[in-house]
Amino acid sequence: MPRYPNLWFYIDRSLAPSYEQAVKLVTNHLRRAMRLREFYGPFSNPEGCDFEARLEHLQPWEEPAPAALRHAHAFHIRYYYTALARQKLDTVRNFYRFAASVHYEVEHANPNHADVEMCPVCGRTGEYARVKGNLVEMVHDPLGLELVLTGKIRRETVRFEDWEQREVGGIGAVEKHVFPGLTGDRNTLRIGVVVITSPLPPSPR
Ligand SMILES: [Zn+2]
Ligand SMILES: [Zn+2]
Repeated sequence: MPRYPNLWFYIDRSLAPSYEQAVKLVTNHLRRAMRLREFYGPFSNPEGCDFEARLEHLQPWEEPAPAALRHAHAFHIRYYYTALARQKLDTVRNFYRFAASVHYEVEHANPNHADVEMCPVCGRTGEYARVKGNLVEMVHDPLGLELVLTGKIRRETVRFEDWEQREVGGIGAVEKHVFPGLTGDRNTLRIGVVVITSPLPPSPR
């Protein structure tokens, strides 16, 4: 079953002259706000996305973790808009709409990518200890959503692993909602909805 996008953006049509511009408004904002590195493929398993963006080497899980399981984390977002536009799902009343799939996982260069069940950061631990089912849909997806909406993972602020320790941040002060997933074809724990009705706040530098 394909992934159900766990983050939806609604952009007031007065803010952009076209659907493409509305998409750019958000993706450019996120790129700057979170310092995302963007990738345009070709991807081995694109799942219908237009492009993706990542941050690597966040929150390393080091000693006393078992040596073979140590890893840092990646934030990974995939954007979907061409497929929605093709099916005329790109506008709803006075909003442009597009979707993304976000998750937080073992970083891509680590041999354990993507799953380490016992990791206190990205594993089936803490508040997620009792969730059943696919680790990606039940843990990695809601963690990615938490980071992009709040700048936190498990309520802790995430910072870049450099001397400055700047906050990774997230989308910032916009209207956001989180709904339960796992209904119908929504094979992900939670769905985030971001509603943009005024120009986006400037990104921190
Ligand atoms: Zn990923
Ligand atoms: Zn982890």
